Amino acid sequence: MRKKLTIALVAHDHRKADMVDWVIFNSDFLSHHHLVCTGTTGGLVRDALNEEGVFPEITCMNSGPMGGDAEIAAMVVRKEIDLAVFLIDDLNAQPHEADIMMLLRQCRIHNVPIACNRYSADLMITSSLWDDLSYVPMPPRYEKFERN
Ligand code: PGA
Repeated sequence: MRKKLTIALVAHDHRKADMVDWVIFNSDFLSHHHLVCTGTTGGLVRDALNEEGVFPEITCMNSGPMGGDAEIAAMVVRKEIDLAVFLIDDLNAQPHEADIMMLLRQCRIHNVPIACNRYSADLMITSSLWDDLSYVPMPPRYEKFERN
């Protein structure tokens, strides 16, 4: 891939094992990109990648419940995030549900690809579209459907 991407990585506590496995599986790819993580996720990602001998640029925001998701959502609004991997714990309630919804919503509004499971994340990072200079992502249209 030609472009250096800024990739957001967020994993809830019961999804962090999955995130660590995913970053190890994709360590070669991730070594070329800038990773922006919520606090605890970022520490685990850094440790896992460093153990693999991979030292990507990693920026750690606040922990999720303390505003990390909100900080990443603000980056999405500013067009600073190319892709997000957000491993949500769908089986346990989270204290920062509002922030989770905000991050998901801003990714949808600003047309940022967001993967909520490893399979989607693998498909996204292996897409040839990243290098296709003729490909222009279509932004979402928010308008009433009118039949012609
Ligand atoms: P954490 O935050 O990486 O600091 O645990 C993730 C979250 O709970 O949103």
